[in-house]
This record gives sequence, C-alpha cells and structure tokens, in this order.
Amino acid sequence: DLWTSRGEVRFSGVEFSYTPDRPIIPRLDLDIPAGQTIALVGSTGAGKSTLAKLLSRFYDPTEGSVTLDGVDLRDLHPKDLRRAIVMVTQEAYLFSGTVADNIAIGRPDATPEEIEAAARAVGADAFIRGLPDGYDTDVNKRGGRVSAGQRQLISFARAFLADPAVLILDEATASLDIPSERAVQDALQTLLADRTAVIIAHRLSTVAIADRVLVMDRGRIVEDGTPAEL
Ligand code: ATP
Ligand code: MG
Repeated sequence: DLWTSRGEVRFSGVEFSYTPDRPIIPRLDLDIPAGQTIALVGSTGAGKSTLAKLLSRFYDPTEGSVTLDGVDLRDLHPKDLRRAIVMVTQEAYLFSGTVADNIAIGRPDATPEEIEAAARAVGADAFIRGLPDGYDTDVNKRGGRVSAGQRQLISFARAFLADPAVLILDEATASLDIPSERAVQDALQTLLADRTAVIIAHRLSTVAIADRVLVMDRGRIVEDGTPAEL
C-alpha cells in the first residue's frame, strides 16, 4: 500500500521560466542515480534554487519532465511525493512548540524513542538534553536560545526522522562557529547515507564529501564531475 521510492531522479528536456519573456532554465537533462550525493554550486542567480524547487515540485517545468523512479512528479500522489522528497531550507526554521514537536513535524506518528534516535543520529541529542526542559523545551518562533548551528541540527534530525528517498538541502551561508560547523559536517555525512541528495553547497567541506559536483551558470550545467576533477 505504501509506495517506497528508490530515489532515482531524471530531468528530461526541462525548461522553466518565471515570466514568459525570460527563460531561467533553457533546457536541462540530468540523471541522478539512486543514492548519489550531488553538490550544486554556481554564482548567485545561476538557477540552483530553481532546480531544487523543480525537484521538490514547488514549481512544474514549462517544458519537459522531472521523474522519480521513472514516474513524472505530476503523476505522483502528493502524499507519496512529500514522503519521498524532502527539502531542508537555509533558514532551518523552527515552529513554536517543543524541540520534540519540531523534530517530528513531518512524522506526527513518531514515538519519543524515534525522535531521540533521530537526534542522536545527527549529534543533536547532547545539546537538546542540556536545554532547560530537554526535548520538551519550548522554542519560540525565532529559535529562542538555540544557536544557528543547533537550529540546523534540529532540522537535520527532522529530515533524518522523515527518512526521504531524496533529500534536497539548501546549505546555510551564515558562518557557524567552528565546533558546530564540524558537528554539522558530521551530521551531514550521517544524513546523506543511503539516500539521494542534492545539496546547494556553500562550503568547500560539503563539496568534498559529494560524489558528484554540478556547476550551474545561467540555468545550464556547465561542469559535471567528481570533487577531485573540478
Ligand atoms: P543564489 O545563489 O543567490 O541563491 P540561485 O542559483 O539559487 O542563486 P535562483 O534563485 O534559482 O538562483 O534564481 C535564478 C534566476 O531566477 C535569477 O535570475 C532570479 O532573479 C530569478 N528568479 C528567482 N526566483 C524568481 C521568482 N520567484 N520570480 C521571478 N524570477 C525569479
Ligand atoms: Mg538560491
């Protein structure tokens, strides 16, 4: 009954424009085998976030198709799509509620044990236990006493618990303090295992852990290779 995706992604002849007169993605063909970690880089305005939004079906292509396991995203049941493809955005936004609520946002059925296991997996458990009420600590809308790095770890725990076949990550540009940056890198490695991932990468350390690096320029992929090659 539950459809489980392998996480195989294909862009075929994808064209996209926000306004009729100005094509943003002129024509894009891209195969992402299941399990591959892609680092997407390129200058501001190159089209990285647009590509991520086409993959998460925030937008549909003007021409061509984006498929998951050979199925056009437009033909997937929205519930299956949301379960299979998860996007973690730069803001690593926290909702009002407890830390546990925030981790379980995509999995309201999750048990406290599952929530804590997800937090442990991405290295967020220790700091959460150090909060006044642990997992039951209320976070306000601005993140309260939770630092930027910790906020990011909470959003990683959320993604880990959701366990999507495809993870899209728009990496934070804000510089994190060094220990939390290292914690974030370790967490990232755990989070990327056994799934397809597209990371809009701003840090060299992230590019280095990718299987494949795509360089975008004006809506086109101008380089495609391993971190060592580029
Ligand atoms: P950055 O590194 O700054 O995040 P990016 O590579 O993610 O850049 P996109 O956000 O995909 O770039 O933008 C690609 C192009 O599309 C840019 O020229 C941008 O101005 C334009 N664009 C983005 N969003 C919209 C929108 N909602 N409406 C119209 N044009 C848009
Ligand atoms: Mg962007």
